[in-house]
Amino acid sequence: MGFNDLELSERLLIARRGTAYLSQRLAELTDEELDGPTLLDGWTRRHLVAHLGYNAAALCRLMDWAATGVETPMYESTEQRAQEIAEGATLNPAALRNLFAHTVARLDEKWRNLPESAWQAQVRTAQGRTVPAEETAWMRTREVWIHAVDLGNGGRFGDFPAVVLDSLLDDIVGMWRKKDLGAGLALEVDGREPLRVSEDATVEHTVRGTLAGVVRWAAGRGAVGVTGGEVTPPRWL
Ligand code: ZN
Repeated sequence: MGFNDLELSERLLIARRGTAYLSQRLAELTDEELDGPTLLDGWTRRHLVAHLGYNAAALCRLMDWAATGVETPMYESTEQRAQEIAEGATLNPAALRNLFAHTVARLDEKWRNLPESAWQAQVRTAQGRTVPAEETAWMRTREVWIHAVDLGNGGRFGDFPAVVLDSLLDDIVGMWRKKDLGAGLALEVDGREPLRVSEDATVEHTVRGTLAGVVRWAAGRGAVGVTGGEVTPPRWL
């Protein structure tokens, strides 16, 4: 069962639980600790919190697009997105926390108020994929759960709902296949059949472990509780 097989209300609930999980990690950080590094190259926690706020704002634009039919893209351009994050990272800690809380509340309000019929309206992601508006539930779910770990103060893949882990695994392997990366790689979750990235290639390397450990490694967030995780996974996003 994948995330998108769940009722929409349940998907939104999982996104909200991820937001609560992330907010908790953020609340545990002092203002000074916001200057510290994340698991993401070149990004401090300030960059990450700004990104999370602006991502919620960008998803609000997709909800507006779905509601009105007037095209409002997530971001004007990759450069604009990067610049916004760089500038957001210079906000004082109170403003940064406020940006996060405010945009999260705004997205939640959009989710609560979108008319039933508009959830299937087609919108476009920052990667250029055309998706129904309901896909924003998964887009935000991925963001909040994974970035809670990226904050680097105790967030764990082991705390994610299993359906989120399974859908992440699908997304990641699907992306590798699409980009023709990782042929020869197999992922073996404890108690499951090995998952080969390419059915046509000979398995050259296997990464084994718990579902949380394998997904963490595949998402490029390090080898915790896996064997064979010393190799670098192919890029996913
Ligand atoms: Zn992100």
